[in-house]
Formats: sequence, structure tokens, C-alpha cells
Amino acid sequence: MEEILSIVTKNENETMLVGEKLALTVGKGVVFTLVGDLGAGKTHFVKGFVKGLGSNELVTSPTFTLLNVYECGKVPVYHFDMYRLENLEEAQELGFNEYFDLKSLDGIVLVEWPEKVKGLIKCPHIQIKIENIDASTRKIVLSNMGGEE
Ligand code: ADP
Ligand code: MG
Repeated sequence: MEEILSIVTKNENETMLVGEKLALTVGKGVVFTLVGDLGAGKTHFVKGFVKGLGSNELVTSPTFTLLNVYECGKVPVYHFDMYRLENLEEAQELGFNEYFDLKSLDGIVLVEWPEKVKGLIKCPHIQIKIENIDASTRKIVLSNMGGEE
């Protein structure tokens, strides 16, 4: 695990802007995990990211489906939220593993609550960790995760 950058945001719009800017730097075949407590801003980060790819699609937590797909023009975004995952079998049934084969991945993957699928994300990926500093301040730390969680 190697830290790439750390940035402090003062409101949700700033967090979205970080996501928006990051989206401009990546293409298909990239996997991100989003780590942080409930209400840290993971979903807002994804909202900004999708906006950065030029999409107006509504981004919400994929609470009941575990996966939302945003078309985003040429590069689909696969947005997982594993918070309500009961067990690893459920993830397997969803075909979760297929999204982590970088050679065949046709889009960009973002996973909230990767702790719930520990061991399933074996490919190199970037971890986005969002820490609550106070009610409206967040510290966002991007780290290169190599091939492990
Ligand atoms: P998560 O997906 O991590 O559970 P959400 O993105 O759904 O979190 O919600 C984050 C909440 O925190 C929102 O209500 C948002 O308005 C609030 N918030 C306050 N300050 C920030 C900030 N700096 N960045 C992101 N969200 C913030
Ligand atoms: Mg969320």
C-alpha cells in the first residue's frame, strides 16, 4: 500500500469535485475501493466521479441491488455498495469476480464497503479512504493497493 495523495475537503461539493477531477485521469480497466464510515462521503465521491465522465445520471447508493451501472457514454461505471451483503456467496452469485479481471474489464469499478468482500478483490486497485474530521471536514487519502486489499 503506497499513498498517492491526501486532500482535505470542507463540504460535499469539494468531495464531489475531487471525484470529478479524478475521473478525468482514468479510463476503462481501473478499480477503486471506497473506505469510510457511513456518511463519510463515499457516494458523493462517486456522484462527482460520474459527473466527471460527462454523465447526468442520478447516482444513489445501490442499497437494494448492490450494483448500479451508469452508462457514462463510452465507459460504463460499475458502482457497488456491499454494505448489506450477507455473505461472500451472494457476491459470487452476482458475478462479482468478473469485475476484477482487469484484462476483460470494459469499464471502471467503484466499490463501497470493500471490507465486506475481503479477499475477492485480488487485482491491483486504488483505495480511496475518506475520514471524518468533523461535521463538514473530510480527509481523502488515495493509495495504490497493488494486488491486495
Ligand atoms: P457514504 O456513502 O460514505 O455513506 P454519503 O456520500 O451518502 O456517505 O453522505 C455523506 C454525507 O456527509 C452527506 O450528507 C454530505 O452532505 C455530508 N458531508 C458533509 N461534509 C462533507 C464533505 N466534506 N464531503 C462529503 N460529504 C460531506
Ligand atoms: Mg454510500
